[in-house]
Amino acid sequence: MTVTVRSYCRFCVAHCGLLIDVDDGRVVRAAGDAGHPLSAGYTCAKGRALPGFHHDPDRLDTPMTGRAGPDRRPATWDTVLDDLATRLTAISRDSGPDAIAVFNGSGGGMDAAGALASRRLARALATTSVYSPLTIDAPAKPLVGALVAGQPGLFAAGVAPGATLTVVVGSNPVVSHGHSSGAPNPRARLRELTARGEVWVVDPRRTETAEMATRHLAPRPGTDHVWLAALVNEMLAVADHDALARETTGLAELADCLAPYDLALAGRVCGVAPEDLVALRDALRRHGRFAGLTGTGVTMSRSGTLTQWLMLVLQIVTGSADAPGGTWFNPGFIRSLDRRPWRAGHHRPRPGPPSRPELPRQFGEQPAVALLDEIEEGNVRALLVLGGNLTSCLPDTDRARRALRTAEVVAVADVVHNGTTRPATHLLPCAGQLERADITFLTDQYAPEISAQYTDAVVPPGADRRELWRILADLGERLGRSILPGGVPVAEATADTLFADALRTARCDLETLRAARVVVDPEPATGWVRAGVRERGGWNLAPAELRAAMYLPATAGGLVLLPRRQLRHFNSQLATGPANDASDAVYLNPLDAADLSVGDGDPVTVTSEFGALDAPARLDRRLPRGAVSVPHGFERTNVNRLTSTRTGIDPLTGMPTLSGLPVRVAPRTPGGQR
Ligand code: SF4
Repeated sequence: MTVTVRSYCRFCVAHCGLLIDVDDGRVVRAAGDAGHPLSAGYTCAKGRALPGFHHDPDRLDTPMTGRAGPDRRPATWDTVLDDLATRLTAISRDSGPDAIAVFNGSGGGMDAAGALASRRLARALATTSVYSPLTIDAPAKPLVGALVAGQPGLFAAGVAPGATLTVVVGSNPVVSHGHSSGAPNPRARLRELTARGEVWVVDPRRTETAEMATRHLAPRPGTDHVWLAALVNEMLAVADHDALARETTGLAELADCLAPYDLALAGRVCGVAPEDLVALRDALRRHGRFAGLTGTGVTMSRSGTLTQWLMLVLQIVTGSADAPGGTWFNPGFIRSLDRRPWRAGHHRPRPGPPSRPELPRQFGEQPAVALLDEIEEGNVRALLVLGGNLTSCLPDTDRARRALRTAEVVAVADVVHNGTTRPATHLLPCAGQLERADITFLTDQYAPEISAQYTDAVVPPGADRRELWRILADLGERLGRSILPGGVPVAEATADTLFADALRTARCDLETLRAARVVVDPEPATGWVRAGVRERGGWNLAPAELRAAMYLPATAGGLVLLPRRQLRHFNSQLATGPANDASDAVYLNPLDAADLSVGDGDPVTVTSEFGALDAPARLDRRLPRGAVSVPHGFERTNVNRLTSTRTGIDPLTGMPTLSGLPVRVAPRTPGGQR
């Protein structure tokens, strides 16, 4: 008999409502929930692929010990966790707590109870070796929030009421469904925004979002900070400086820093016609305020921090930041930053780990690029990888694989096999998203409205899988530490034990959220950022470290890498298995491909200063000339074969360079000759 169960999707930040059909314990269909207050029936291909993902033949079903090969064997949970605890205890005793590292992958981040338990376990272990993909693809957002507003939790989540101009930079919500701005049904939202005003998309690629926009500008990759600097100058020329002086500090330093940047220079450096930049300036002046949204096209760029900074400065100068008619920042239903005092003091990063002290440790994390050095130098001897694939997300793939083979302990908790499960010494099969209760926790501030969701498990965990929080809490008990709130024993706890504690700052308690499943605060809450900033002495328009980092990019020709999101996978999730559509390829502009005598489907080799990869070429008319796009998250066409953990690292964030990395492309003969 088929039963239909209500839930929500946890592949991306849009968190669409789902109706899941279960037939005799088998998940047979995932469809949009028309009654869902945020997504109203919308789903994308990833959400609808959930039954296939749930029954993926590569699911991890049984705990195992030993690396892939003859040493690997199934074991009971008690055996695996006892052995893991024994080894971790010895390593911590002999080498100190930082010898145990925790990597929280994006899959683990979408598992609220697992993410909460991971934080608690890291605290209980007293390790500072905590890593995540945040420092690979989006460190600019919390850093700029911390430096300019004194609030790292400052995420542009949408368009404030009354906004008539929206400027989207380096983001393609039609495909990605938002970065820090969850966007269920993005096409409908774009139609609504263009009907009531103008939407400008600034992106080197003529994306699906750009095609729906009022105007599209295509600057050279990695030059966004230059046109933004020029526009800030243009808007400062007509701004009310007395009002700005009351709300900000650093106005003179900002003007000094940006003085060399005018529209003519920006046109030359960015490869955009100056009249197009004038048109954007005129739109800003005409509308007065604007909503500004950015995505991984910005944050993964070498100039991502500068672009994020100047985007926020442009909003401040035009009075658009957190104001009606401007950009809306979600305070979070759970975090409720609008209802509690912000932390005092200025943002001061600490030195990175012993092997890379020059890189910053900030926001409770070490930079992910340092993890391989830490393993190679023996500083990290044990690694807990929670819902992430290090061999596809870390730069320098071959080195990552070697390092993982040499670490003494690599315990991987995940849902399906991936490149990191092969070198794992302990395999911990996790409940998938349909097998666990959940709340919208880490993505709390990315929702399109101030809202929270709760779901029960749709089906019980299959095979010998366990919920991640339970695995970590069990491990904690074996290490002699209770990691659950109030010291509740694992045997007496459920995921709700962690949720109830996490909801202490929320707009409602767990009971209310459980009963309602989706709770939306009808008040959009604007003004909370400005109030918080005012209490801290105003916006800091020109932090010294950002001014010092300002640079003019070279305009040399040649091919450069460009990141992109794709509809059917999210990072490494769904990048293999039944939903995979073999879209891992090297995407080229047709004219560049013709210059290289490469046709659609031809094998090519892409080479950077740091490595090479072979893959079929795909022609993409949306790409500008000079850009080569290799989507991230794949094992086979692994873009991180081209990237480095040592060269081109942003000193402010520790982020590696992917976007804008110079590459060469050459046809490959059928025999494999490069
Ligand atoms: S848009 Fe995101 S949340 Fe919605 S169905 Fe697709 S992957 Fe799931």
